[in-house]
Amino acid sequence: MAEPTLKKPLPVLTSEAKPFWDAAAEQKLVMQRCQDCRAYIWTPRPACFECGSERVEWTQLSGKGQIYSFTVIRQVVGRAASEAFEPDVPYVVAWIDLDEGPRMISNVIGCPVEDVKLGMKVAVVFEQQSPEIWLPKFKPTVS
Ligand SMILES: [Zn+2]
Repeated sequence: MAEPTLKKPLPVLTSEAKPFWDAAAEQKLVMQRCQDCRAYIWTPRPACFECGSERVEWTQLSGKGQIYSFTVIRQVVGRAASEAFEPDVPYVVAWIDLDEGPRMISNVIGCPVEDVKLGMKVAVVFEQQSPEIWLPKFKPTVS
């Protein structure tokens, strides 16, 4: 199959998010946590959105969670860059409730889309997209 002429957009490596992407390249899921009110902070930012504290610290998470909600993308429409996603359809976009509490949006991979269920237990895996970017995605765990 020919390579799509348009590539998927990748995250921009900002200084605030760089520790996240550095950890992802080492297969670790990390998130900022407020050292004052203990809130997890997602997406990366310089201060806590709950209390305004700038005492935020990167913390490693288990990478485990469960599916809170999801949708199956069966057709790509709209902007020209969507062509890059066509080889992936059908694919799952899900909200993942991480065991530590925060909720992330990601893809569920590694099983047929028909098998994806609410509450399904999943664990993070990292897919390399560029030399610096490893995207966190989630696969069902065997229970
Ligand atoms: Zn806080």
